[in-house]
Amino acid sequence: MICYCMDTIDEFLKNSNIPANASIATRMREPLARRATFNVGGEAALWIRPSQKDGADMIAAVFQQARIQGLPVCVLGRGANVVFSDNGFSGVVLDTGGWSGVETFDQESGRIVFRAGTRIDRAVETLAKHSFGVPDEEPSCDVMGALLALGYGGLEFLAGMPGTIGGAVYMNARCYERSIADTLVSVAIIDENLRHATVPFRAAEWGYKKSPFQNRDMLITAAEFLLYKKEKDALLAEMEAHRADRERKGHYRFPSAGSVFKNNHAFGMPTGKLIDELGLRGHSHGGAMVAPFHGNIIVNAGGATAADIRFLVDDVAQRVRKSAGFELETEIVFM
Ligand SMILES: Cc1cc2nc3c(=O)[nH]c(=O)nc-3n(C[C@H](O)[C@H](O)[C@H](O)COP(=O)(O)OP(=O)(O)OC[C@H]3O[C@@H](n4cnc5c(N)ncnc54)[C@H](O)[C@@H]3O)c2cc1C
Repeated sequence: MICYCMDTIDEFLKNSNIPANASIATRMREPLARRATFNVGGEAALWIRPSQKDGADMIAAVFQQARIQGLPVCVLGRGANVVFSDNGFSGVVLDTGGWSGVETFDQESGRIVFRAGTRIDRAVETLAKHSFGVPDEEPSCDVMGALLALGYGGLEFLAGMPGTIGGAVYMNARCYERSIADTLVSVAIIDENLRHATVPFRAAEWGYKKSPFQNRDMLITAAEFLLYKKEKDALLAEMEAHRADRERKGHYRFPSAGSVFKNNHAFGMPTGKLIDELGLRGHSHGGAMVAPFHGNIIVNAGGATAADIRFLVDDVAQRVRKSAGFELETEIVFM
C-alpha cells in the first residue's frame, strides 16, 4: 500500500495558490487505472489537471510547487505507454491533458506549437472496443483535427496512436518508419532547476524511441514542429489508412500500452516475430496475456494487475534470453 501523506498534500494545495475560480481539477486518492490505457494501477495520493483556461503558468506552477515541497511528481499524458504500480503513487500525478491546443501557428513557415497535453488523435477512443483511458472532461484539440483544419501535413503518420504531444515527444514515438523527432523544431520545458527553457532539436540527441528528456525530472510544456501544406483529402486518406491498419492489427481490441519491447536490428527480425517464433502468443499470467494477434503486445485480457503485467514481461524476456540469447529492452514505462 502507498503511504498517503495527506497532510503534505493538504499543505501542497494550500501553498500552490490555486485561485478559487481556477478550472484546475484536483482529486485525492484517484484510481490510476482510469488514467492509463492498460487500465491497471492503484491510487494517486493527488491527481491534478490544470486547464488552459487557467493560463500558461498554472501547469508550470503546480510542477514547481510540488518539487519545492519535495513531493514526488509523475507527469502524465494520456497514459498510453505506462504501467502504474498496483500500490499507486504517493505523490502528485500531474495530468497534462487539460493543457492542450495550438499555441501558435505561422502559415508562411508552417511552424506550429502544440501544448503538451494536446491529444494525438481523438478518434482512438471511438475505435477502442474496451474502455481505453477516460474520455476528456473538457473539449480539447487533437493534432489530427488541427492538421485537417489547417490543411498542413507532417504528423499524420501518427493517426490512430493514443497519447499526447508531451508523451510522444518524451518517448520519441515512432510508427510507419517515421519518428516524431523528424518534424520537431524545439521543445519548451521546465527543467530540473525549475527554469523555463527552450531546447532546440539536435539530431545527435535523438534516436530510435529515444529522446533527451528520458529519465530526467522535467516537464515538457509545448513542442514546435515544421509542417508543410498538404491537400485535406490526401491528409484524411492517410489518417484513415493508418487507423484502419491499426484496427486490423487488433490495437484497439483490448486495453494495452502498445508494443512492450523495443525493436533491435541485431535481432534480425522485429521483436514481435521473435516472440511469435517461440510460440508465446496467448501465453498468459493472471489477467495479462501476450496478445493472440501480436507477439510484442501484452494485453489486459480482463482483471489484470500491474504485477501480472510485470511478471509476464519478465517471463517473456527470460524465454527470449534463454532460447535466442537476446536481451529485450522494454518500451513501456513502469511507474
Ligand atoms: C494501442 C496502442 C498503440 C500504440 N502504438 C504506438 C506506436 O505505433 N508507436 C509508438 O511509439 N508508441 C505507440 N504506443 C504507445 C503510446 O501511444 C506512445 O508512447 C505515446 O506517445 C504515449 O503518449 P502519452 O501522452 O500517453 O504518454 P504517457 O503514457 O502518459 O507517458 C509516457 C512517458 O512520458 C512521460 N511524459 C508524458 N508527458 C510528459 C510531459 N508533458 N513532460 C514530461 N514527460 C512526460 C511520462 O512521465 C512517461 O514517462 C501505442 C499505445 C497503444 C495503447
